[in-house]
Amino acid sequence: MIVPEGLPLPAYVYDLPALDAHVRRVRRAVRDLELYYAVKANPDPELLRVIEPHVDGFEVSSGGEHAHVRALFPGKPLALGGPGKTDDELRLPAHRIHVESPYELRRLIATGREADVLLRVNPDLPVEGAALTMSGPFGMDEAGVEECLPLFTDRVRLRGLHAHLASGLDAPALIRLAGILLDTAHGEVNLGGGMAVSYADPDTTFDWEEYGRRVPLLRRTGQTVRIEPGRAMTAYCGSYVTRVVDVKRVRGQAYAIVLGGTHHLRTPVTKGHDQPFTVLPTGGGPALEDEPVTIVGQLCTPKDVFARNIVTSLRVGDTVVFGMAGAYAWNISHHDFLMHPKPAFRYVNGSAPTR
Ligand SMILES: *Cc1c(COP(=O)(O)O)cnc(C)c1O
Repeated sequence: MIVPEGLPLPAYVYDLPALDAHVRRVRRAVRDLELYYAVKANPDPELLRVIEPHVDGFEVSSGGEHAHVRALFPGKPLALGGPGKTDDELRLPAHRIHVESPYELRRLIATGREADVLLRVNPDLPVEGAALTMSGPFGMDEAGVEECLPLFTDRVRLRGLHAHLASGLDAPALIRLAGILLDTAHGEVNLGGGMAVSYADPDTTFDWEEYGRRVPLLRRTGQTVRIEPGRAMTAYCGSYVTRVVDVKRVRGQAYAIVLGGTHHLRTPVTKGHDQPFTVLPTGGGPALEDEPVTIVGQLCTPKDVFARNIVTSLRVGDTVVFGMAGAYAWNISHHDFLMHPKPAFRYVNGSAPTR
């Protein structure tokens, strides 16, 4: 990671050339599938501009995301999903609408618009090894699908199924699920996102090549297969860079306190992991040496923890670079809690900062 000269801290730094290279790799690997990017992972316009040439469309899950992406890329295909769509959202132009319930389909038809629909299904499949499964309120079971089928008209057309089943699955698990779904579906099948990202081992990435080789072989005649990854597209390109302001030992536990906190980078709290980091020796203050350190931020809550008991050496004034902060990071965080300053934003090799 290149830390730009004179960077005010804390700051988010996005490596746009690295994002471009990564998305090119994904595109090449899944060239036989349609590729959408799930905007909720990170809607930053600078990132979207890098991603856009390499994807067939964007998956948006709210009226806000829809307006944001349409303003940036008028005419780019959008798939509109998400639970609890309002009537206004159901009127938004979209290449595909992912319908979540029979009542939502009735409301969509009642708008009088034309629409091409994928039914979001919530099948009873064993999803082993997932970080988060999407059972519960999402989509519909077999009875819900049955209820929808007779409702379609020549204006509101059934194009196929959408199934975003879990997040954090490796390629073999997602290929297995794809096989089950493609075996039962007709027309279009959107297999969702959920490709695994390992925060414990940042060098191990989802096996896009294996996925892109195997899934097209499972496709039956007449099927179009689309995927909509989010995290595995943008997680790697972002870093949250900050500085150590204090070190101490409390009842034997060593702590490093950094500027900012998890109100800027909520990912480790929501996922319950240690955010990977590197220390740049820019400091000259008191030190902790080669011992298990818990890194916390400036929030007045014991939950403000980036990483627990990681053996490291650092001093006050050192720069700490938290990696893998490009997805579900800034945009899911509770920025206003405690009224600390907002981070700076820098885009390596990109245009001037927009914030
Ligand atoms: C969140 C979401 C995605 C993207 O999931 P990732 O785990 O970030 O790949 C795709 N589709 C739907 C419907 C989602 O809700």
